[in-house]
This record gives sequence, structure tokens and C-alpha cells, in this order.
Amino acid sequence: MKKGVMRPGHVQIRVLDLEEARKHYVDLLGLIEMDSDEQGRIYLKAWTEVDKYSVILQESDEPGMDFMGFKCLDESVLDRLAGEIRAFGLTVTELPAGELKDCGRRMQFVAPTGHTFELYATKEQTGKWGVSNVNPEAWPRDLKGMKATRFDHCLLYGDDLEGNLTLFRDILGFDLAEQVVDPDNNRVALFLTASMKAHDVAFIKHPEKDKFHHASFYLDTWQDVLQAADLISMTDTSLDIGPTRHGLTHGQTIYFFDPSGNRNEVFAGGDYHYPDHEPVTWQAGNLGKAIFYHDRQLNERFLTVVT
Ligand code: FE
Repeated sequence: MKKGVMRPGHVQIRVLDLEEARKHYVDLLGLIEMDSDEQGRIYLKAWTEVDKYSVILQESDEPGMDFMGFKCLDESVLDRLAGEIRAFGLTVTELPAGELKDCGRRMQFVAPTGHTFELYATKEQTGKWGVSNVNPEAWPRDLKGMKATRFDHCLLYGDDLEGNLTLFRDILGFDLAEQVVDPDNNRVALFLTASMKAHDVAFIKHPEKDKFHHASFYLDTWQDVLQAADLISMTDTSLDIGPTRHGLTHGQTIYFFDPSGNRNEVFAGGDYHYPDHEPVTWQAGNLGKAIFYHDRQLNERFLTVVT
């Protein structure tokens, strides 16, 4: 949080059929529907998040991610960072308060990998869902499905990783927590954090720009990941891989697809990061183990299917 960027705040995901998507994200993942708008978007949150929403679903002809937003400490951070992003050579568009419901103004820009990001500092706070902020109970009793606790990160595929590293590390104040390097020491994956989490956003080298690999949600325990796997079978949801563990970040994970083909992850555990930690490096020769610690083998679908 060196430069005032606090956390992943929201992601807008394109879905082909809003009703199908609602069933998936609400009934299976356990997100809570909070609102909708005139554009037909619906706004969802995970129960531990204090802000009103973190996932926005937009019906569209093709799946993928429209944008990912990071919440900043206060409004002054937005103007300062917008100036620095412009000096870096990117166009920054200021979207007015209210364009996303109950959200303040947003500074939007396209990163060197082609992905759209935005910074904002204000969003209506509704508090954790289903528990009071005074003498809170451990958890709400009427959560559905996987009971996702928070929107955690996105993994994105794109071409200019070095450009994104400069943008995220030097301008936005993220740390490079973990990386994958090829035999010539070129970076082929970046795991970046603005916090103590293992990653808040990650990028993998890919020839095309602006590809969405997954949006990830945090669960409390490995047992919850296993139960998520059971629910994936019970609902005949398309499974990608897991349950397993990552070498990178060491999280315990399972991947599956929403009805539009967007990949989701739920995971538990994982490493932590302090600003004085050196980046952890995986060599590309160990990529199988880095991604799937038990199988030690890559799954073609995991590498190539993106939206
Ligand atoms: Fe992930």
C-alpha cells in the first residue's frame, strides 16, 4: 500500500446469460446480490467485504473481463496516481461518481497488457453481510453454496509483462511477491501484491492482449475447498482442475467455469508478503510444479483457455 492503493475492489465480468450467471455466482459461489442498475448490470458481494459490492455482472455477446478496480485510501490518491500514470504515457479517463452504482469517481486506464484497470476511493459501505459490526457472530447462518468470503484477485494473460511490472510496482506501489522466469531470465509470470496477501493481481505472458484467466474468491479452509469440489459435482458445473495445491503462493485451490466459460477459482491458505520480502522465483523448467504442486504437470486447458 506504499502509494495508497489498498486492495482489489471490484471486477466487472461479461456473461452470456444473466440468469444462468446469477445462479452460478449466487447459488453456487455464495455471493450475495446487492443491487442492479439501468444498464442491466447486477452487483454482488462476498459476505466479509465491508463495501457494497465487489463483482459486477454485465450481460454481453462474449465472455471476459471488462475491468478490474482497486480501492485507494482516499480521493487525493486518485489525482496523484492519475498524474503519474499519465506521465508514464497512458491515457487516464475519469468516470463520474454514480456510473457504477454507489461508487465515487473512477480513474480508468488500459495497462500495457491491454487490460482495463481503474482506481477509486469511495463506495457505499454496507458492512459485512449478515453479521453486525458490534459483537459480531462468527458467520451468517444463511450463506449459500461455497460461501465465498471475499473477492481476492484476478489472473490475467497478456503480452507486455515488463510494462505492467513498471506500472504496478513503480507507479501504483505494488510489490512483486513472486515471479516465473524462463531460461534466459525473462519474466513469464508476475504475482503482484498491494498488501500482505500473496497476490492481488497476477499476469502470465501470452501473445494476445487483454485475456482473462480467472477471478478468484477466498474460502476459509482446505475442507471448504473440498466441499466446493463436491458442490461442483452436485451441480454438474464444468471443472477445470483440482482440488490441489499451487507451488506459486502455495494456496489450496480448485478451478471451474461459469456458464459463459469464464474461469473461477476458490482457494484457501497461501503465503503472506511483507514489503521487505525478496520476490520468490520459480524457474520455467519447474512450471508444472509451480502451478500444480502435486501433479507437477500442466493441464493444456489451464494454459490455453482464456476469455
Ligand atoms: Fe488464482
